Amino acid sequence: MVFENAQKQLEKAKKHTHLVQETEEMLKYPVESFSFSIPVRMDDGKLKVFEGFRVRYNDARGPTKGGIRYHPGVTLDEVKALAFWMTIKCAVINIPYGGGKGGITVDPHKLSKAELEKLSRGWMRKAYRIVGPDRDIPAPDVYTNGQIMAWMVDEYSTIVGQYSPAVITGKPISLGGSLGRSYATALGGYYCVKEAVQKATYGKKVVIQGFGNAGSHMARLLAEDGYTIIAVSDSKGGALLENGFDYGKLSEIKENEGRVDAYPGCKKLSQEQLLELDCDILVLAALENVVTDKNADKINGKMIVELANGPVTPEADDILYKNGKFMIPDILANSGGVCVSYFEWVQNKQGYYWEEEEVNKKLHAKMVKEFNTTFGIHSKKKIDMRTAAYVLALGRIDEATKDRAIY
Ligand code: NAD
Repeated sequence: MVFENAQKQLEKAKKHTHLVQETEEMLKYPVESFSFSIPVRMDDGKLKVFEGFRVRYNDARGPTKGGIRYHPGVTLDEVKALAFWMTIKCAVINIPYGGGKGGITVDPHKLSKAELEKLSRGWMRKAYRIVGPDRDIPAPDVYTNGQIMAWMVDEYSTIVGQYSPAVITGKPISLGGSLGRSYATALGGYYCVKEAVQKATYGKKVVIQGFGNAGSHMARLLAEDGYTIIAVSDSKGGALLENGFDYGKLSEIKENEGRVDAYPGCKKLSQEQLLELDCDILVLAALENVVTDKNADKINGKMIVELANGPVTPEADDILYKNGKFMIPDILANSGGVCVSYFEWVQNKQGYYWEEEEVNKKLHAKMVKEFNTTFGIHSKKKIDMRTAAYVLALGRIDEATKDRAIY
């Protein structure tokens, strides 16, 4: 279903490009697609087998790049779609990578720390054949983090017999992680919002779906900039506070209680109600397929920022565009994460590390440039922002495919 959505977006964008037949053909299938079992000896002594995946979708522009997701809903179809989107995203933000993605079908919250470590090392013991610093470079995604990347980089380094920090990004700083990486996805999205508000007038009321890494940093950045966060949600439910949440208190409550709707005095909301609230900026920072043809007409946010991958279906896209919503699509809005991952990889390769200020300055330059290039295509061709970002990316992939004469 998600892969089908990704292909629909591609078909729509192709009408506005002149791709060589070879590029079209290459984008139909992943370069490599790998699924494997990961046996783990659990704390109770029993052996349990988990299913793991890694997909390298397209490597015309360089080594493939993309996160590893731990979630009970992970399937090969989803990983393929996410790897495809990474191909497009790396081309939109113009970093020298193709797209990849990985995952394990698991609810990591049900594992002990020792089980999680065994599972993560087990993923790398299978995937080391497909990943590599100049081949395929994983990173964190939903329910994976710096600690998991640290175990994986250690496992890979042990297997190949030399310390190889450039095989994975999103590592802890102590192992060659980049300053600024932990909040780069949100910061990139925030820089896009700052550009968008220069093109049209928006108020300051914000709703955020998903209060994880991407969503919580976005809430912080917008709150620090004078925006009012009127509603937030996580997997347990939504919370509304018309006067706005205090960011510090909200993150403390999420940390201590494990849910945002424990915030004192807030009104509890269902996920559906939260999405339909009247606001200026709706940030989607949870999972895919949350805005569909069933609820797109009920979306009242004026600007929609997709920090998550694939939260809006192609059918919903058309409805939102028709309703005059301004969309900052995932392949642009959340590309700050992979952009700083690229900076991390560059620093690992050169063995020289930048100050946080320098990382953020470089990210700012990238986001502003590619947001405005996308916006220019959107205005000139009179197409929605997602299609415009696809047109930009496909042009770059096409050029590399032709120049490499891959076929
Ligand atoms: P995360 O695991 O830190 O956070 C996910 C959040 O979503 C959690 O707060 C969870 O409770 C919430 N959530 C889950 N199901 C929900 C539901 N039905 N309704 C509302 N909230 C729900 O993950 P993350 O890293 O913040 O990633 C979120 C999204 O952003 C994903 O789509 C991911 O692919 C995308 N993304 C993340 C990064 C990054 O650097 N973290 C980069 C690019 C894209």
